[in-house]
Amino acid sequence: MTDIARHLEAVQQRIAAAARSAGRDPRTVELLAVSKTFPADDVRAAHAAGQRAFGENYVQESIAKIETLADLRADLEWHFIGPLQSNKTRPVAEHFDWVHSVDRLKIAQRLSGQRPAHLPPLNVCLQVNVSGEASKSGVAPGEVAEVAHAIAALPRVVLRGLMSIPEPESDLAAQRAPHRRLRELFDTLRADGLALDTLSMGMSADLEAAVLEGATIVRIGTAIFGARDYSH
Ligand SMILES: *Cc1c(COP(=O)(O)O)cnc(C)c1O
Repeated sequence: MTDIARHLEAVQQRIAAAARSAGRDPRTVELLAVSKTFPADDVRAAHAAGQRAFGENYVQESIAKIETLADLRADLEWHFIGPLQSNKTRPVAEHFDWVHSVDRLKIAQRLSGQRPAHLPPLNVCLQVNVSGEASKSGVAPGEVAEVAHAIAALPRVVLRGLMSIPEPESDLAAQRAPHRRLRELFDTLRADGLALDTLSMGMSADLEAAVLEGATIVRIGTAIFGARDYSH
């Protein structure tokens, strides 16, 4: 068994344990393997171990990786989760299945306009700045409803839910608080008539807190592939 296969199994066990303690079916939590900075061969190893959904942050790196792995394309789901500038939306609209990091209406409008006709509509999540720091990307909680309804009306994207990247915290209660705020926003939008099914929250360090608060996709990099090296 490869290290990646063992790590995937360990992460699935963490998800299952957290789901059980929340009284949830573990199958309602999807594992997104965040492969940014790691080579295509690591994605291959994870795929051989049964993993299907992969998250990427950087446009150039991810398109090269998707092309290298073209032989597996029908069996992989690619999720863009990084900051997205409006002049870089086209390759993302053309190559990905999901975008979690839509942080303003203009990005969603461009993705919708650029989504090729032969592909199904692009699945998107609206990124919310739950921690409220000015430096963080994401829509402010008070603007979520207006932006979400506008995105939901676009023809070539499907608004699936909300995503957040809260400030790192070390204890479970502090980790849960921003995830709970995201879930409350999600519940409000659903009560308001939007057909959402996705809460993308939780990373290697806080996946338990996220699953306890209702995450349906957890985005896990380090715990699967190891520490990232940004030096090259
Ligand atoms: C890198 C990244 C992750 C994975 O983080 P880990 O702590 O390595 O699990 C998840 N979500 C986003 C948006 C990321 O950029």
